[in-house]
Amino acid sequence: MLIFGLRTRVFALAMLTLLCPRCGNRSAHPLHKAVTKFSLFFIPLFPVRTTYTTQCTYCGLTNRLSKHDATRLLHQGSGAPW
Ligand SMILES: [Zn+2]
Repeated sequence: MLIFGLRTRVFALAMLTLLCPRCGNRSAHPLHKAVTKFSLFFIPLFPVRTTYTTQCTYCGLTNRLSKHDATRLLHQGSGAPW
């Protein structure tokens, strides 16, 4: 019997202070990185998908970012790394 599947782990990269496009407030936005890996017999082997998101702590709006945009935000220094 072969046991396989996908497993996603979420990493908190930084807390950024950004202007929210929906509510218009300048509020804290945690930057998260979610990595989904293929696993075989519960052992994660290789990543199949990586996504970057920010979420407005005021209204809850979640934005998906590209890796390039997430890296740029991290290096801008607008937030404190965790
Ligand atoms: Zn908002």
